[in-house]
Amino acid sequence: MKFYSLALLFVHFLLSPIEAQVPSPKPLVKKFCDKLEEKFKGLGWSKSNCDQVAWEQVRTSVKGDPLIWTTYGAKEGTPDVDVTLILCGVHGDEITPVKFCFDIMEHLKQNPTEFAQKLIVVVPIVNPDSFFIKRPTRVNARGVDINRNFPTSDWNKNALTFWKNRYKSDKRRYPGKKAMSEPEVVFQVNLIKRYKPKKILTVHAPLTLIDYDGPTSTGNKGQELLIQMSQKVKGYKVQSYPFFPGSLGNYAGNENNIPTYTIELPSSDPAKSGEYWDMFKEAINSAILHDITQSPEP
Ligand SMILES: [Zn+2]
Repeated sequence: MKFYSLALLFVHFLLSPIEAQVPSPKPLVKKFCDKLEEKFKGLGWSKSNCDQVAWEQVRTSVKGDPLIWTTYGAKEGTPDVDVTLILCGVHGDEITPVKFCFDIMEHLKQNPTEFAQKLIVVVPIVNPDSFFIKRPTRVNARGVDINRNFPTSDWNKNALTFWKNRYKSDKRRYPGKKAMSEPEVVFQVNLIKRYKPKKILTVHAPLTLIDYDGPTSTGNKGQELLIQMSQKVKGYKVQSYPFFPGSLGNYAGNENNIPTYTIELPSSDPAKSGEYWDMFKEAINSAILHDITQSPEP
């Protein structure tokens, strides 16, 4: 009896440290996935399967939700790998882009061989605070438009004046007190610095157009891809929308020469998300596979 108890104690001692080492999903991410599944259900969408994704996470939103991303295809650090960064849920009141990113993720998961040579970084919800509230908003929890808070060189001089004059201090477009003041912006800037994407796709709604910011030299592959994407969506409207102090297009496309495509879906109606994915599937596929590396000037 005594031996039995001792043996049990020994077995227990042996197992405990092992048990403790079993990797479990970060509690914060698990809680987030549960919340997301509820939200998807409420919007009439199929399951996100958020809890089955290998998420990466470092920082949190203003209200403390995890800012998550995941990768597909080639390993990080593969020499000369073509990296595509895909951002969704930048403006919380634009609902359809969030499902759009989860559809992209499912597509990447289902076709591993096709994308094996590419590295794809997907951020499905850049701005969770404004997506999860009852009445989703464009701005983040501190009232900042995170597409006006990037550290562009014209920010200090122009961001606030432009907002006051051009937008008559519209609260939906407030750029913040200073550039990079918002965690959701620091998050995106860090991802750009870490993964050095060759192109960025950022998904919004409802302007029904694709806007391009980036190199514009003749025979430029960035613009070539823009035309190709439009053609794959039956001639979807292409428009050169002006860029703003603190916008991603200005920061990544204009100042850092990374071809940046803003895809504006036709609406934020959650019931239309499946339709939009069907419309864009081929365009997204070709955008990821399209090698955009600029050949050096002769
Ligand atoms: Zn938007």
